[in-house]
Amino acid sequence: MKTEILGVRFDDLSPQEMVHTAASLIEAGGFHYAVTPNPEFILAAEKNEAFRNALNQADLSMPDGIGVVYASRILGRPLKERVPGIDFADSLMAWMAQTGKRLFLLGSKPGIAEMAEVALRKRHPGLLVVGTHYGYFKEDEPVIAAIREAQADVVLVCLGAPKQELWMAQNGPVTGAKFMVGLGGALDVFAGVTQRAPEAWQKAGMEWCYRLIKDPKRINRMAKLPLVLVHAAGARLKGK
Ligand code: UDP
Repeated sequence: MKTEILGVRFDDLSPQEMVHTAASLIEAGGFHYAVTPNPEFILAAEKNEAFRNALNQADLSMPDGIGVVYASRILGRPLKERVPGIDFADSLMAWMAQTGKRLFLLGSKPGIAEMAEVALRKRHPGLLVVGTHYGYFKEDEPVIAAIREAQADVVLVCLGAPKQELWMAQNGPVTGAKFMVGLGGALDVFAGVTQRAPEAWQKAGMEWCYRLIKDPKRINRMAKLPLVLVHAAGARLKGK
């Protein structure tokens, strides 16, 4: 059962349960994909139906932002906890290294996916990275072919939203991959090009604030967090 927050559906699962569910989907065969909506996604999805559909048709949807959890509480259907997509991917890759699953890294500027590959192989000994592709491509076909030829089981799709969700929903099934997850700027983090907030900030639900201090240009994007709470309060008052 999914929990709907302002028109976007979420799974109310712990981080471990998310990884177990993903592992079962991968073992089950067929194509499945996961999304990691934050407050910015929710507001964009209100206005963009194709994006909303791509989010809501996902097999797994994790609240990647404390703002989503706050909004769920305001709406009176609280989600258990925040599940950062990047932590989910890290645990999934640990499982992949143990079970010999094949990983493909898609996204970011040229060279970044390869740097991420080196770092991830070090972090997860035995991890099978079978291919990489940068994220600024015009045609889908060569990317689909690269994933097919690599016989990837799992693809980390890091193209930013809504591009990555639309891409997974449209092209995922023909790549032969079993599972994809949209992860925004995660390859930049794995490659060491951008840094995440220290753990204490993450635990305090202040990762957004750390990112803002590091990159003040994000102010417009960050303003989405309080706005989503205002929308949640409005929806609650209307009894939605
Ligand atoms: N990106 C890409 N192709 C595009 C647009 C963006 O590969 O056409 C990459 C970009 O280089 C960055 C990521 O997608 O690595 C998006 O980062 P963003 O800051 O939006 O992610 P988030 O804040 O969601 O982690």
